Amino acid sequence: MNTPRDLPPRRRTPSLDVAIVGGGMVGAAAALSLARAGFRTALLEAREPAPWNQSDEVDLRVVGLAPSSMALLDEMDVWTSIRKSRSSAYSRMHVWDAESGSAIDFDAASDGRDMLGCIVENNLVQWMLWHALEAAGVQRLCPAEVRGFEAIDDRIEIERMDGQTLAASLLVAADGAGSPLRKLAGIGTRGRDYAQRAVVAHVATERPHESTAWQRFLTTGPLALLPLADGRSSLVWSLPDAEARRVLALDERAFIDQLGVASDYRLGRIVATTPRAAFPLKLQLAENYQADRMVLLGDAAHAVHPLAGQGVNLGLRDVAELRDTLVAARDAGRDIGAAHVLRRYARRRRSADTLDALGFDALARIYAWQSPSLVAARGLGVRLLDRIDPLKRRIAEHAAGI
Ligand SMILES: Cc1cc2nc3c(=O)[nH]c(=O)nc-3n(C[C@H](O)[C@H](O)[C@H](O)COP(=O)(O)OP(=O)(O)OC[C@H]3O[C@@H](n4cnc5c(N)ncnc54)[C@H](O)[C@@H]3O)c2cc1C
Repeated sequence: MNTPRDLPPRRRTPSLDVAIVGGGMVGAAAALSLARAGFRTALLEAREPAPWNQSDEVDLRVVGLAPSSMALLDEMDVWTSIRKSRSSAYSRMHVWDAESGSAIDFDAASDGRDMLGCIVENNLVQWMLWHALEAAGVQRLCPAEVRGFEAIDDRIEIERMDGQTLAASLLVAADGAGSPLRKLAGIGTRGRDYAQRAVVAHVATERPHESTAWQRFLTTGPLALLPLADGRSSLVWSLPDAEARRVLALDERAFIDQLGVASDYRLGRIVATTPRAAFPLKLQLAENYQADRMVLLGDAAHAVHPLAGQGVNLGLRDVAELRDTLVAARDAGRDIGAAHVLRRYARRRRSADTLDALGFDALARIYAWQSPSLVAARGLGVRLLDRIDPLKRRIAEHAAGI
């Protein structure tokens, strides 16, 4: 931004506490949560979210929300409407290995809980949040994109593509894995391209899904069938790029047949499918979650393999941590955009997200092993783990965000 540094410092208090860029699930949740906590908040989004209608086909992009995410949405009074609109709670998870035959089961009841998580459509969550923003007093700016920003004294000045400017105490980048703001701030990323794509579709199966999330690990990548409210299952089939392209190009009959084989007919034959789509997969961690009067949130900070279904759950944990950090700073009379305040959020979330992301990456690597001795070791490890209830409970609690 071309605001020369040698101008006399402006002492006007910024009219906004927080400006958030990106109104996906994470950015919209951050805007609502911060506004509910009493911060003057604006949300800038490039594209108006597509309206969600009950009569529409189920969005191809669904996520498994962990209990911690449902609790956060509930605090913001949007969870009940999301759950009632269309959602599918799952109480069991069965994960099995195509090579070694080993399996591990998670059951909510054995931990005294009624569910492990809930499958919801991305655009339903985004739509409900988007609609709650106005009543909460969030200034919704859409379509709006950011050209540049500069931290000056007690404020960060943000310039939009259309030339308009706004100022806030803090800028939050929730603009997704490609985050233009992260790049403008000069924050690099580390990680790796999995050279895989997740092929997604909704499929009807011969047998019921039993409110269970099914995941089969093949050497080419994991294949998940997540239970939908209408009895179908949502497929997330991670495949090497070329294989994903081949699967996308199959005619419906061949796709159904090959998916039946790949899913081990666990839910019987696949009887029908929606059209398919595919998403590239990568591990990407921002080198820092913090810049001058700015923080990163959600996929802008971390993109992870979907095998553990945790991407947006991590993003919503970022939201809760940021809100708590800012509330504590405000209550102590501190500047919410000060570097030492933001450091608490950035350190805590970056270390938690990094541990999780590397854990998911390690799982992806371990399940890609093909040598017979390593496959046998993996099978042994999984069988052992399945019998150690306290350890399994710890894993389930961690996934639930407890
Ligand atoms: C196949 C697949 C399955 C998945 N399954 C799960 C799952 O089961 N559970 C789970 O927790 N996660 C899952 N995830 C991950 C989850 O979908 C993502 O973590 C989540 O959608 C990220 O949300 P976000 O709001 O951070 O980013 P995004 O959804 O990418 O939102 C970014 C927003 O920023 C806007 N934007 C971008 N640039 C600008 C700009 N310059 N100015 C203004 N606005 C801008 C975009 O329009 C968009 O609305 C899955 C991902 C994939 C690919």
